[in-house]
Amino acid sequence: MTDMDESYYLAMRVKDMAIPYVLCQRGKCSECEEDVWLDENARRTWEKVPILCIVCIEAHIKEKSPEEIDLMITPEIRESLEKYFKRREELMKK
Ligand SMILES: [Zn+2]
Repeated sequence: MTDMDESYYLAMRVKDMAIPYVLCQRGKCSECEEDVWLDENARRTWEKVPILCIVCIEAHIKEKSPEEIDLMITPEIRESLEKYFKRREELMKK
């Protein structure tokens, strides 16, 4: 089981994705304070753990050996990813 101290919510930066594909609210990265998207569906996760943007999480991952990196995907996040891919597919068809 992942230690909560070592868990983060990975958020897309508003800078990188102007319009989120799933229902999101705006938040801030807990380290660099960059504007990020918080998935409404994953509220339970990002209310509990620090929110990190994709740039800051990279620095955390680099400090660790691959064995130490334990990526935890909650059911809410998996659901959102599925929605995200579906939405992206729909947009690609247009
Ligand atoms: Zn950041």
